[in-house]
Amino acid sequence: MQPVLIVGAGPVGLLQALMLSRLEVPVILLDRHLAHLEAPKAHVISSRSLEVCRQYGLPASKIRSYGTSREDARWVRFVTNLSGEEVGILPFFRLEPDVLEYTPEDDTGVTSTIENTYTGEQLSMNSALVIACDGANSKIVRSLGISSEMEESADTVMTIHFRADLRPVVEDRVGMLHWIMDPAVRGVIIAYDLSGNLVLLHNFDNLQQQLITDAHNLAYKLAAAYHGWADLSAVLAAYQAERQPVALRNAWQSVFYGRKVFDLVKAFKTTEPDVEKATLAMHAALADTEQRQVIEEKVQDQADQFNSPGYNAERTTEYIPAYRRGARLVHAWINAKNTSVLPSLPPVDFAYLGNDMSDEQKEKRQYSLLDLIPPDSYVVLCGPNQRKYVELCELLQRSSIPARLVVCGKDFTFTDEVPDGYGLSKGNAVLIRPDQHVELVIENETVEEIVKHIASSLHAQH
Ligand SMILES: Cc1cc2nc3c(=O)[nH]c(=O)nc-3n(C[C@H](O)[C@H](O)[C@H](O)COP(=O)(O)OP(=O)(O)OC[C@H]3O[C@@H](n4cnc5c(N)ncnc54)[C@H](O)[C@@H]3O)c2cc1C
Repeated sequence: MQPVLIVGAGPVGLLQALMLSRLEVPVILLDRHLAHLEAPKAHVISSRSLEVCRQYGLPASKIRSYGTSREDARWVRFVTNLSGEEVGILPFFRLEPDVLEYTPEDDTGVTSTIENTYTGEQLSMNSALVIACDGANSKIVRSLGISSEMEESADTVMTIHFRADLRPVVEDRVGMLHWIMDPAVRGVIIAYDLSGNLVLLHNFDNLQQQLITDAHNLAYKLAAAYHGWADLSAVLAAYQAERQPVALRNAWQSVFYGRKVFDLVKAFKTTEPDVEKATLAMHAALADTEQRQVIEEKVQDQADQFNSPGYNAERTTEYIPAYRRGARLVHAWINAKNTSVLPSLPPVDFAYLGNDMSDEQKEKRQYSLLDLIPPDSYVVLCGPNQRKYVELCELLQRSSIPARLVVCGKDFTFTDEVPDGYGLSKGNAVLIRPDQHVELVIENETVEEIVKHIASSLHAQH
């Protein structure tokens, strides 16, 4: 098979290339720029993205070391301008719920013409397929005539990246985001480092963060096709069926939050195009007791977008496991009894939490159940003495489908509560895909039925 061509070395293209090369799929990665642009690409990375990075050998502590300090990042502030009046404040703690719903499901190759925009030289390149990681205004997507199923944004967002020491201006009003409501320069200041590295997003933007999980889903599927245990067309169809509903939901959510922000702007009475009049209207609105209350309510109404939708804003750290087929394998802390079931990863590093977590808690939280899933193999997770699942793994391996057995109680134990929603103690097992999602909760199915199920989802030739 020819290599996979990835166009665009932004965060998604880079991670996609890393994943595929770790799965031994040859990759060519192209970008139109010779060097990275200096402006940062994100101020928050979802917990799921960090889990994905960890599975491919990028520990969260390393990624976190590039981030804003915890003390500075805790708040979102709504201000008339940076040194002006503070109208509202919200906690900043954004998580992404995993919304993947289960929808299981010729390799003709692609010829691309690539132009070196520095020299004008053109070359033709054959690849098994092209992955368009060329950003939101993807030329590849446009050239294929693919249009958005959601409404197109009417806004133009301008990003200004600058370095300045803003501590003397904000003093103790630190925060990850400062929403500036002043009509002259309405926008969001993202303080990557309040003493230096800042970005002003002129105009409001809504972020989506599903691309990394798209890349994760695609990586093992392409590797399966590349290594001959799946059909390319079948896994691409499955990719679309699984990821499109998630994309639509995220896009819908983005539009929803955009409308809420517009409601806030309306409450500030700053929709008037004349800047001077709009500024006067804003100050009049803030001076009016009733209108000020409306503004404060609208600020609180933004809270969801800095938290995880579906989580209680007061309890964003509460984790609610989903034991269903199609969902990501639940997370629980484990102790490995047989270290060969663990990846060669350092334990999760909670040093950044300082005294917010006790040493005893840190000791118990070194490895997650998710760490038991390697990126290149199915895993059958079961309780002890389950001969049936040994047979299942053997049969899958004979069908060239990589699979390994991990036995709770023998290979690992849970450090705290046992998350038994899968029914492992009743003799059930969980079949987990290489992207850490549950393919099947196995109850009474025979080994042959299970193998048939996997084969049909991969359309492998058996
Ligand atoms: C200020 C700011 C803050 C943000 N904060 C967050 C955040 O906190 N969390 C979050 O999840 N997201 C955030 N985002 C959004 C995030 O940056 C994007 O979602 C992310 O960059 C998308 O990654 P990507 O790799 O798909 O595309 P991009 O980062 O846009 O990368 C596309 C790459 O493709 C290259 N390219 C484009 N066209 C071609 C071509 N024809 N040929 C070759 N190469 C090409 C480009 O040079 C670029 O390197 C933020 C965005 C901005 C502007």
